[in-house]
Amino acid sequence: MTEVSAIVIGAGIIGTACALQLARAGVRVRLIDPEEPGSACSSGNAGSISEESIVPMALPGMLAKVPGWLMDPEAPLHVRWRYVPRAAPWLLRWIVASSESNAAASAAALRPFLSGAVDAYADLLGAGSFDALVRRRGQLIVWESTAPSRSERAAHALRERHGVAMRWLGPAEIAEIEPNLAGHFARGLLLERHGQVVDPKRVVSALARDFIAAGGAVVRARVARLVPTGAGGRVILDDGSELGADRIVVSAGAWSRELARQAGVDVPLETERGYHAMIDGAAAICSRPVMHGDLSFIATPMADGLRIAGTVEIAGLSAPPDYRRAQVLLAQARRMFRGLDTQQASYWMGLRPSVPDSVPVIGEAPSAGGILFAFGHGHLGMTGAPATARIIRDLALDRKPNIDLAPFRPDRFRGIFGHGRRAGQA
Ligand SMILES: Cc1cc2nc3c(=O)[nH]c(=O)nc-3n(C[C@H](O)[C@H](O)[C@H](O)COP(=O)(O)OP(=O)(O)OC[C@H]3O[C@@H](n4cnc5c(N)ncnc54)[C@H](O)[C@@H]3O)c2cc1C
Repeated sequence: MTEVSAIVIGAGIIGTACALQLARAGVRVRLIDPEEPGSACSSGNAGSISEESIVPMALPGMLAKVPGWLMDPEAPLHVRWRYVPRAAPWLLRWIVASSESNAAASAAALRPFLSGAVDAYADLLGAGSFDALVRRRGQLIVWESTAPSRSERAAHALRERHGVAMRWLGPAEIAEIEPNLAGHFARGLLLERHGQVVDPKRVVSALARDFIAAGGAVVRARVARLVPTGAGGRVILDDGSELGADRIVVSAGAWSRELARQAGVDVPLETERGYHAMIDGAAAICSRPVMHGDLSFIATPMADGLRIAGTVEIAGLSAPPDYRRAQVLLAQARRMFRGLDTQQASYWMGLRPSVPDSVPVIGEAPSAGGILFAFGHGHLGMTGAPATARIIRDLALDRKPNIDLAPFRPDRFRGIFGHGRRAGQA
């Protein structure tokens, strides 16, 4: 068989994992990014490998919450007023995606995709890096509220339908497994199969090192333009130089929309900007990632401290960060744990690449052979990276992927209300 060549655009967790799997399969790969691998959204996330997080972000009951999100800049989800006209089509699709049937379709797509993600990291990272960087102690969700909201009930119903491994806990059991949590949590849910990485940036660096060791090349440049040729294509870099390959993988995270357009598909990709506050030396306060279910943020014990991550801000790719959102997270974490010293905290903002139905865009561009899309992983890019990389490797080598890719199709978003429809659905 003649050698296949590939260009991977974007060296976040998704692009770097894809590049590594392709290089291991004997493909000649160039991984292109102006920054060092893992510098963008993949560096500061919460590190959860949430392999049973099949519940999409848009759920029944969400519509009623939208007015509050617009008014309150400290709400878990906030849309900046000035950006509302730009965000409106995406938000509309998001609301359509929150119907019971569309949310159920997203969960059904995510189930086989995310399943086995922790073990898949062992394969991707190799035993040495896996042991150093990955833990599996489950994830705990805790609620102060005594009764579930409508969207929470919808989430639990989806988990039950898909047989997610979980255990309900009362206050005494919560205190037993996480004794430093404040006493006001009424309900807990332990998602037993979830894992975490202790430093997402180091995970990407380890994959990039293995990629180079497998014969891959990292090119530090920005792709200014993608030119499909019918069988792969060419990329034009910022300095005007050109590179070509049989397969081109678009994995530029939140910046993928324009590149996808150049390959003939307009994907409704928006960024859900997220924040973290990192508290040095506080990792021992909990023994696993703990999510505050009412306020939608997560506290994760990392190698270098406790990371409080979350919030969604819709404000586009280029607006400056509003670190008040990270300060709010810090204040909420002080209420969440007893004796949490937050003197030594630093802040970060990252751009989640998000599509309205929470199902990433993975597959070949319908009218541009050899151009493969791998973006839109939203809140679950760390978790979805190993599966995405396997699928992209299989597509690049004309092999049949191990899951049905119809729900992931790049061209599934037809018309503003066509969002969320799957092949074969009315
Ligand atoms: C606060 C927060 C917490 C999160 N927690 C979790 C979690 O616990 N678990 C989980 O699974 N996920 C989590 N996520 C989501 C996860 O971080 C993202 O889904 C993931 O990092 C996306 O990876 P990516 O490779 O697609 O994008 P990125 O990491 O953003 O990488 C994209 C890369 O493309 C490059 N690029 C852009 N344009 C070009 C171009 N024209 N040419 C060349 N290169 C280009 C950029 O420089 C960048 O390096 C979280 C996100 C946030 C913000």
